[in-house]
Amino acid sequence: MFEKVAIANRGEIALRILRACRELGIKTVAVHSAADRDLKHVRLADESVCIGPADSTQSYLNVPAIISAAEVTDAVAIHPGYGFLSENADFAERVEESGFIFIGPTPETIRTMGDKISAIEAMKASGVPCVPGSGGPLGDDSDETLRMARSIGYPVIIKAAGGGGGRGMRVVNSEATLLHAITLTKVEAANAFGNDTVYMEKFLENPRHIEFQVLADTHGNAIHLGERDCSMQRRHQKVIEEAPATGLSEELRNKMGEVCAQACRKIGYRGAGTFEFLYENGEFYFIEMNTRLQVEHPVTEMITGVDLVKEQLRVAAGEELAYKQEDIKINGHAIECRINAEDPDNFMPSPGTISNFHAPGGPGVRVDSHIYSGYAVPPYYDSMIGKIITHGATRESALARMSTALDELVIEGIKTNAPLHRRLLRDSAFKAGGTSIHYLEKKLGLK
Ligand code: ADP
Repeated sequence: MFEKVAIANRGEIALRILRACRELGIKTVAVHSAADRDLKHVRLADESVCIGPADSTQSYLNVPAIISAAEVTDAVAIHPGYGFLSENADFAERVEESGFIFIGPTPETIRTMGDKISAIEAMKASGVPCVPGSGGPLGDDSDETLRMARSIGYPVIIKAAGGGGGRGMRVVNSEATLLHAITLTKVEAANAFGNDTVYMEKFLENPRHIEFQVLADTHGNAIHLGERDCSMQRRHQKVIEEAPATGLSEELRNKMGEVCAQACRKIGYRGAGTFEFLYENGEFYFIEMNTRLQVEHPVTEMITGVDLVKEQLRVAAGEELAYKQEDIKINGHAIECRINAEDPDNFMPSPGTISNFHAPGGPGVRVDSHIYSGYAVPPYYDSMIGKIITHGATRESALARMSTALDELVIEGIKTNAPLHRRLLRDSAFKAGGTSIHYLEKKLGLK
């Protein structure tokens, strides 16, 4: 196992990675910005290096600074967490070229999956079901494009191949606006992602977001750990996640999970990854693969008992996966609420000093957070300050534990979205389960 790992991230996920390293006896280096000296994991790490000012382009996205920090501390591997450089193929390449181990898949895999068209091509070739669509870039022949949309059937969605974060997409309801919409999306994509390639898909009107967690090693083994339902979203940002997905049969879970594991074997995937699907009328449609650890990984850990971060570290160190598919058993139900420092009414960020913090506890309650009383939430980064995860023998039990946990939670000095979560936990449609990706925005009156 590694002697020392550099953690190139911040906040709750940096702390999560630090804890896994400690359990495995690995020393840690916290690589942080000048605004993050007081982060919990920076204080707990064996060593810490300030790599630049608060602005993330000069710190958490500053590749030479991160690599130098790993060099001066003699770290052997770099864990990128999620966000920041975690899905940046050039970063992964620089890490490897500099003689370090990148805790994630190969740069080539990241590159293939980072382009939505090449990802869809790779998935189709591996037998993963995709959304009916152009399958490739839209060309200049308008007649051909119009014919294609007609055969797919309206509504369609125009998507940027280089898009991400829910940007670079446009829904088209009829032929009259198709060509104009394509032109607009191309211009936006060129400006936002430096790549004006767009493609077309059938727009699914009322799907759920269901994703499969996979783990693969460098010895040809790949397994799935079941699915998560992340349909509770606002502006394509997940708000609540759970596992397993309400109403999904064990048969379909095993079938789709095996399709994903098989795709990992075909593309030579390594580490932890997530296959994201839209699920409608009993069918799965691949939308993208995330080649990193997800924010919502704890719900999977709670129902399977597998520590995904430790497996990532083991695989990166060249070990075989500690589990075979038959070892993975789904036990009960888990739910995660993302706690954001934001106004629950208008979603505006609410940075500032936390004057008082009490974490909930009790059976089946897990809190993944870096905050503490007196901690100042900086205004420079994502507003997520932690996650509450509850586990129970049934969905009802996990929900009841979440309600209790949210009532126990005290965060004073800043605003958080906890009131929104408390409201959703009382919502009858959410309690029944199986709501679509549009449910939350409709409930909030945003649609
Ligand atoms: P990003 O990389 O920007 O997150 P995705 O391809 O994952 O983009 O899509 C983000 C969201 O956009 C999906 O979760 C879904 O809400 C919506 N979306 C994408 N493709 C479709 C589609 N074909 N039909 C309906 N909704 C879609």
